[in-house]
Amino acid sequence: MEIVVVEDEAGIADFLAKGLEAEGFTVKVAADGIAGERLALSPGADLVVLDRMLPGRDGIEVLAAIRRSKPALPVILLTAKAEVADRVEGLDLGATDYVTKPFAFDELLARIRARLRQSGEGAGTLLEAADIRLDLLSREASRGDLMVRLPDRESQLLAFLMRNASRICSREEILAAVWGYEHDPGTNVVQVYVGYLRRKLSLPGSPAPIQTVRSVGYRLSERA
Ligand code: CA
Repeated sequence: MEIVVVEDEAGIADFLAKGLEAEGFTVKVAADGIAGERLALSPGADLVVLDRMLPGRDGIEVLAAIRRSKPALPVILLTAKAEVADRVEGLDLGATDYVTKPFAFDELLARIRARLRQSGEGAGTLLEAADIRLDLLSREASRGDLMVRLPDRESQLLAFLMRNASRICSREEILAAVWGYEHDPGTNVVQVYVGYLRRKLSLPGSPAPIQTVRSVGYRLSERA
C-alpha cells in the first residue's frame, strides 16, 4: 500500500516516512502542495496524509483537486490545533479524516489503517469504464470473457485512462501522472504502453476501446 505524505516541515515528514515504512507501507513524500497534488493524483496512491498549511498550493486546494478526480481516495488532513474552522472546511471538502497537530504517531497510524480498511471494503479498488473493469489491488483487468493480470505500470496507465474516461488525455499529462515526468522527455513510452494495453485488451472483432487522438493524446471510450 502506498501512502503519500504532503508535509513541508522536514522533521515531521521524515518522522512519518520512517514510521510508516517501518510498518510496511510504501511512502512518497512531497514538501509542497504542487508536488503533493501530483503524487496524490498518481495512480499508485492509496491514501494521502495532507498538511493543511503548505507552500505552493494550500492543503485545502490540494484536497479539492483530489476530490475532483479521485472521489474515493482516503485523505487524512493534518491541521494545527487552533484551526477549528479549517477542520470543518476540510471535512466539507471531503477530507476522510483529520488529525490535529501535534499528534502521536500511533494515533495517525490507527486512523490510516481504519481508512484503508474502509476503502478496501468499498468500491474504491475496482474501476469500471467503457467495457473494462480493473481491480487496482490485484491489477486484474477484465473485458468480456477476457481476464489479464497487468504489470504495475500498465495497470497505472489503464487506471489513469479509466478515471478520465471519455475525455482526451494528453501525452504530457499521462507522462506526468503515470511516469512522474515533469517535462516531456520526447520518448514514445506512452505509445508503447498503450500498444501493450491494446494487445492485451482486444477481443476477437472488438479492439480495445483506447483511441488515439492524433497529435493530442489518447481517450478511453466505447465510441469508435
Ligand atoms: Ca505546514
